[in-house]
Amino acid sequence: MLTPPRRRFLVQSSSLVLLLTAPMIARGATLMSIRVWPAPEYTRLTLESDGALSATHQVLSDPPRLVVDIQGLQLDNQLRDLAGKVKSDDPFIKDVRVGQFKPDVVRLVIDLKQAVKPQVFSLLPVAAYQNRLVFDLYPAHAGDRLMAFMQQQETLDRERQLGASGAPPQTLAQAQTGQHDSLGDWIRQHRSELDDQQAAQPQQFAQNGPRSAPPRQQAATPSDNLADSPSSRPDPVRRDRRNFRTVLLAIDPGHGGEDPGATGPSGVHEKDVVLLIARHLRDLAQNTPHMRVMMTRDSDFFVPLWTRVEKAQSANADLFTSIHADGWFTPDARGASVYCLSEGGATSVEARLMAQRENAADAIGGIDINSRSYQVAKVLLDMSTTAKINASLKMARPTLGKMGELVHLHSKQVQQAGFAVLKSPSIPSMLVETAFISNPEEEARLQTPAYRKQIARAIFEGLRAYLDTNPPLARRRILT
Ligand SMILES: [Zn+2]
Repeated sequence: MLTPPRRRFLVQSSSLVLLLTAPMIARGATLMSIRVWPAPEYTRLTLESDGALSATHQVLSDPPRLVVDIQGLQLDNQLRDLAGKVKSDDPFIKDVRVGQFKPDVVRLVIDLKQAVKPQVFSLLPVAAYQNRLVFDLYPAHAGDRLMAFMQQQETLDRERQLGASGAPPQTLAQAQTGQHDSLGDWIRQHRSELDDQQAAQPQQFAQNGPRSAPPRQQAATPSDNLADSPSSRPDPVRRDRRNFRTVLLAIDPGHGGEDPGATGPSGVHEKDVVLLIARHLRDLAQNTPHMRVMMTRDSDFFVPLWTRVEKAQSANADLFTSIHADGWFTPDARGASVYCLSEGGATSVEARLMAQRENAADAIGGIDINSRSYQVAKVLLDMSTTAKINASLKMARPTLGKMGELVHLHSKQVQQAGFAVLKSPSIPSMLVETAFISNPEEEARLQTPAYRKQIARAIFEGLRAYLDTNPPLARRRILT
């Protein structure tokens, strides 16, 4: 007889037909939009309709393909044109064939460039979206990101502790708080439970969030030419090579893909301008000795808030900066702000509302709440410590100060609220609202390379000022 783990493996890897549950199976639902979001990590195919869709799917091999039967749909021109939406350099999709399989069933055959492990889920109407049926195509052999994260975290904990004192290995959480390593323990304790949840049937995900303008179809993101030369100032982290090491900055351009973020009065999307600012910041840092950069996204695709944190943790980033340009209810709000996580309530009503808007990204972008990562995230994202928040404030204050020298500030104090993307268990994290895209003047400014470079320079100078007084300690002093 098969053991439960073996049985689970067979269920996950076979070409089992999976029935999606939906409260209302629409007959004659109309397709509103089809969107394809290719990215190196996964390609997303979204079908948006005026009624909930029900679908079954099969994963087939030789050649690899995904066969999807959608009930209650009639073949129309949008479906016929679906293949034209697939880019030739899509990492996963080679081609899509579409046909009326039965009188009320449309069949999609997605020819694949590599074997995939699809996540298929439905989303109820939220923001400007109606019902969505989502196919996230992940590589079949990507490894276990959660396990890799655990192992890297434990290794980092050990190295940091050894590097600091030479004492017997102790986890980072113990070192910071004197408490046991709840992060690692929790994952270990819940591992089997999470495996079971992953094998469970998907369920409908009811979501609510603020209304925003509908996203555009994959508008090409312009690239900026960087005229800036690397800073000529002496590098603060290079003053004493014996004690300091290379710093890894995690840069997190907000939103992306299905989640456009805020949209300005002339239609500029936050997700596009913050990616350009993030690239300027990346280039400034990469041209600086002893600084390296990891980006949570470098193209136009959706990354869940938890995944942004996980990526930075997995890379052992030293600092985390999330970059945004949100909107406000009135067009006159203007200027830049810097936010950190709060332990309790928000420092102002505005900070609380801003965190609510940012945290709606997962609902708008669309996540599968049955995925293991989401189940882990629900617990992990509440594990931030007082020590980490204090470290975040030490980074945010000089950043706000430097920004005040170069751009207009909205708030002269670092504000705090419950931003999910700032809930890294161990990395000092801040969120920079670079401007209000809802302000017509600031929206226009965000469209100019000069202003985007100025913003990136201001954040960069802030980070340098922080590192000047808080250089990271050597990680592997004793091991090397
Ligand atoms: Zn934002």
